[in-house]
Amino acid sequence: MKSHVKALVVGGGAVGTSIAYHLARAGWEDVVLLERDELTSGSTWHAAGLLPYFNMSYATTHIHDYSIKFYKTLEEETGLNAGFSVVGNLRMAQTKERMDEYRLYATTAETCGVPFEWMTPAEIKERWPLVNTSDLEGAIYHPTDGYINPADVTMAMAKGARQRGVSIERKWQVDGYDWTGSEWRVTLTKMVEKGGNLVPSEEQTTITAEHVVTATGNHAQRTAKLLGIKIPAIPVEHQFIVTEPDPALVEYRKTHGEHPVLRDADAKWYVREERGGWILGPYERNAPARFEYGVPDSFRADLFPLDLERIEEEYMSMIHRIPSSEEVGLKDDFNGPICYTPDGNPLIGPAPGLRNMWLAEGFSFGITAAGGAGHYLAQMMVEGEAEIDMASLDPKRYGSWMTTEYAARKNEEAYEHVYIIHHPDEERPACRPLRTAPVYDRQKALGAQFGQVNGWERPNYYGPLDADENFDHDARSFRRGGWWHYAKEEAEAIRNGVGMIDATAFTKHVVKGPGAAAFIDWFTCNKLPKVGRINLTYALTEAGTTRTEYTVVRLADDEFYLVSAGAWTAYDGDYLRKAAEDKRDEMGWIEIQDVTTQWGVLAVAGPKSRDLLNALVKDADPATVLSNKRFPWLSCRDIELGMCPVRAIRVAYTGELGWELHHPIEMQRYLWDLITTEGETHGLKLVGARAQNWLRQEKSYRAFGHELGRDATPLEADLPRFVDLSKDFHGKAAMEKTGIRSKCVTVLIDGPDDTDPWGREALYLEDGTRVGRLTSGGYSVAFGKSIGMGYVSPEVAKTGQALKVKMLDKLWDATVTEDSPYDPENARIRQDG
Ligand SMILES: Cc1cc2nc3c(=O)[nH]c(=O)nc-3n(C[C@H](O)[C@H](O)[C@H](O)COP(=O)(O)OP(=O)(O)OC[C@H]3O[C@@H](n4cnc5c(N)ncnc54)[C@H](O)[C@@H]3O)c2cc1C
Repeated sequence: MKSHVKALVVGGGAVGTSIAYHLARAGWEDVVLLERDELTSGSTWHAAGLLPYFNMSYATTHIHDYSIKFYKTLEEETGLNAGFSVVGNLRMAQTKERMDEYRLYATTAETCGVPFEWMTPAEIKERWPLVNTSDLEGAIYHPTDGYINPADVTMAMAKGARQRGVSIERKWQVDGYDWTGSEWRVTLTKMVEKGGNLVPSEEQTTITAEHVVTATGNHAQRTAKLLGIKIPAIPVEHQFIVTEPDPALVEYRKTHGEHPVLRDADAKWYVREERGGWILGPYERNAPARFEYGVPDSFRADLFPLDLERIEEEYMSMIHRIPSSEEVGLKDDFNGPICYTPDGNPLIGPAPGLRNMWLAEGFSFGITAAGGAGHYLAQMMVEGEAEIDMASLDPKRYGSWMTTEYAARKNEEAYEHVYIIHHPDEERPACRPLRTAPVYDRQKALGAQFGQVNGWERPNYYGPLDADENFDHDARSFRRGGWWHYAKEEAEAIRNGVGMIDATAFTKHVVKGPGAAAFIDWFTCNKLPKVGRINLTYALTEAGTTRTEYTVVRLADDEFYLVSAGAWTAYDGDYLRKAAEDKRDEMGWIEIQDVTTQWGVLAVAGPKSRDLLNALVKDADPATVLSNKRFPWLSCRDIELGMCPVRAIRVAYTGELGWELHHPIEMQRYLWDLITTEGETHGLKLVGARAQNWLRQEKSYRAFGHELGRDATPLEADLPRFVDLSKDFHGKAAMEKTGIRSKCVTVLIDGPDDTDPWGREALYLEDGTRVGRLTSGGYSVAFGKSIGMGYVSPEVAKTGQALKVKMLDKLWDATVTEDSPYDPENARIRQDG
């Protein structure tokens, strides 16, 4: 075995094998793939091999699309037939609501170029008469996907990898990782058979690797322990059963081709043909998590006993859908561990806190995703960045607050939710509430309906405590939900009066020390603010795209307070800390503190916000504390509200006069009571995240994870005013070299009167040419119509450009507005008083 390599990939399942292949294909010469047992001996061998396109995530759709296309090329490259049956995939709907879900998904498919067709029940029946369509509303059909043999496709990728120079070593287990400061020293133990078990022998060796990728499937908890990090990938039991041949199917197949993979999402199952019979794969309730604390030696390529009772409901519904299956007996069953994560998406990208350590863990659709995951991860490792934004799959989307119990219970929920209707306003209930601001109980008592971001409970909107018969807070919709009217009133309150938003979940870091100013100047693209002032700025990736958006407050010459999106605390902190470590020698000592949970944030905004705060502020001259002279727009002041010391920042994400009140978290209840009590005389309204999301679009304020991400530069986000091209900063050259591939715009939409866009809809010209997609959507109270933000080809990114937006499968008129269509001069934010 080699003793020194460029990259060591740990885990010879579909995912690890694909990564090794793609690293070699991307040009890395010295790649070793290591497997503790045999290739495919983890979850890969017993997968059903379905390759479904359907996925509500933009990044994952790209990953699946790559895999499906890539697998079709493997035979030509390797001579191995991976058994790809391109039978298509029919996803049926029993309800109109389910059809709405498919229509929303279809917009993502369209923006990613994934082919699909709509089918009526009659069309289904005509083509596949064995299917009972009596209670169907319709279906979406993907003609280009199907199923593959998981072991064969892995072996084909392994052969392709070997042909490209990858060494594959079996029966070696990684037992230790040691970072030398420049590379990983990895301890390996030879595994041997003993009494049917696979156990470590006395034989050990080490291998040094510049980069390590872990793709250890069900062993992720052991990997986490070896690395000293947290990885929320824990498997859940997943079963499928195989029936005896169905005579009706056998007869049908004499004159017809194979059925597509059938999915009855409302019945929670997939079905496909298998040697004249059927495979039924249910996603049932109460499937338990397994191996929370590691996989026992005794579990190799093993299965759990079938639990037929648990899947009885799904079994019966298969018989309902395919009546001929009623008479056929069971031939085989599989109940294996399928790895999950709390949100059901894999963890792909740099490991938290570690250098040159990459994770590819937690794959629940790992056969479908392996090809694309290998391709995009190899891009990240070899070129520095993937061509799509991988942030939604980044391992650091969970912070150090995450525990084994949380991961296990959430993963069970993610499994059970595979076939629920994925509403865009979906909120999942497991493990909640967990992270709460001190005022959580007060908010709840006042009718707050919470959403969850990075574990934090954050009010989405406030509604009546007892939902009346017209409105159930838990009801979800693809159209304007019952919450819409409450969000509208909240948005109007901020435009016309005063509102308060809980922004405690914001990520907050302090950067200080002799090297801090030089570091922030290099790390972010805007000019550094003067002491007491703030700036909006961006940290870029190697590729010049947006890694993080920061509000930077300069507290002192050598001290900065960085505020970024609440969902991304570990993701932002990791990048910041690693960059600062790299620059310490050159720039001087730089200290980074994550103070997210030490500071609460209440944002008070609206034309009457100054009157409200003036009544509370303590000062020798309270009437002038918040005046433009003493407290100009885009500045920060330490003020006192009653007995609470407040770091007040004059910005408002809503685009109205307002202040963010950053305060010691332990004084939050006091401050809340103070403001809400005084607020009664000023008409204060409590406002949630949904109204805020609408309001910021009227101001064209880009949001991280929507308009801002690793697939667009700040110049493509059309933010040149926040980019100081006269200075040198990280990612600048790459940003300039990239040019403008597409451009961010705001659109006002003459849409239907019961629906707004959700921020994933395709954009067209009048003549039907697709020119872009939305990344945000909502309703504008200022303009009385739907609003959205998104990216279009540069040539159509001009004010007044007529476009069409596809919503619920119909095209609606839209017009590109000037940037910040509401109050473009910022007169309201700068208002004096
Ligand atoms: C019943 C069932 C049906 C499924 N059907 C489908 C389907 O139709 N379509 C689909 O896309 N997915 C399906 N899946 C999921 C799919 O099986 C997994 O997502 C996929 O196999 C994961 O691949 P992997 O490479 O990440 O993990 P694995 O295949 O588990 O591979 C991980 C490998 O890492 C090795 N390893 C672990 N630790 C070490 C170490 N320290 N040193 C060396 N080696 C190590 C293990 O031995 C193992 O071989 C199904 C799963 C189940 C249970």
